[in-house]
Amino acid sequence: MLDLYAVIGNPVSHSKSPAIHSAFALQTNQTMEYTTLLAPIDGFKAAVENFRQQGGRGLNVTVPFKLEAYQLSTRLTERARIAQAVNTLKFEGNEISGDNTDGAGLVRDIESNLLIPIAAKRVLLLGAGGAARGVILPLLQKEPALLAIANRTINKAEILQEQFIPYGKIVAGDFRQFSEEKFDIIINATSASLHNELPDLPPHIFTHAELAYDMMYNQEALTPFLKFAQQHGARQLADGIGMLVEQAAESFFVWRNVKPLTKPVIAMLKSTNKI
Ligand code: NDP
Repeated sequence: MLDLYAVIGNPVSHSKSPAIHSAFALQTNQTMEYTTLLAPIDGFKAAVENFRQQGGRGLNVTVPFKLEAYQLSTRLTERARIAQAVNTLKFEGNEISGDNTDGAGLVRDIESNLLIPIAAKRVLLLGAGGAARGVILPLLQKEPALLAIANRTINKAEILQEQFIPYGKIVAGDFRQFSEEKFDIIINATSASLHNELPDLPPHIFTHAELAYDMMYNQEALTPFLKFAQQHGARQLADGIGMLVEQAAESFFVWRNVKPLTKPVIAMLKSTNKI
């Protein structure tokens, strides 16, 4: 029987993870199968249990279950424990190991693929949901001059600031609070682009931006955030395809102990609209 993996979420049919992991498996000669698993909104735990019973070896976890995956884990890596969110589950005997590879994926995409160092930069992170939670520690570990978190609901950003203050220089506010500040890297970790919306941002925050990065990806057109950033002076634009592949590579390593090459898979995803 093939080792079985899946991405679990709701919705999940649009996910590119099966294509990415199949490419990794082919490239590294791993015998495994990777599918999608749609869980009912109130049925995450049962769906995971059922998958384990069927011999499932590991899961990627996507919206909206990262917090539930954290709670379900019987063991946590340090980065998942601090993020309080899990995007990678590994099943070994009775143990459910939880990890979070989102942040490592984002940082690797910015530094290794886009060739933009984070150290000493002023970074603005928009959003305070599961994705933001997962990337704060890895960003702070790169020692930016400042990490500002801005969220529509300000108290969620303030909670994150309080939680992560031991790990680096971090401030919190709403979207307008930082309107007079200059940022080198501006990362959109809100889900606004998913609904074709734009967070209510002051245009001039992009004037000095070396990079505007949207975690959301859209191969047909620039996301509303990237379009706005381009119009208002951001020098380089990137969507979340690179992060998606890099976080997947990190999960693949957690499960298989093999590091796949990411660049050909990023290129493959960028070259086709239908995967
Ligand atoms: P959550 O639902 O946990 O959080 C959503 C966040 O977006 C909240 O901060 C919310 O603010 C904010 N938000 C939603 N709509 C708007 C809006 N119209 N204007 C301003 N803010 C808004 O989602 P996730 O954190 O899990 O995901 C966020 C995004 O990151 C998604 O687009 C997802 O696809 C992407 N992602 C990409 C990955 C990749 O590998 N490329 C990996 C993980 C996520 P409030 O608190 O006020 O509600």
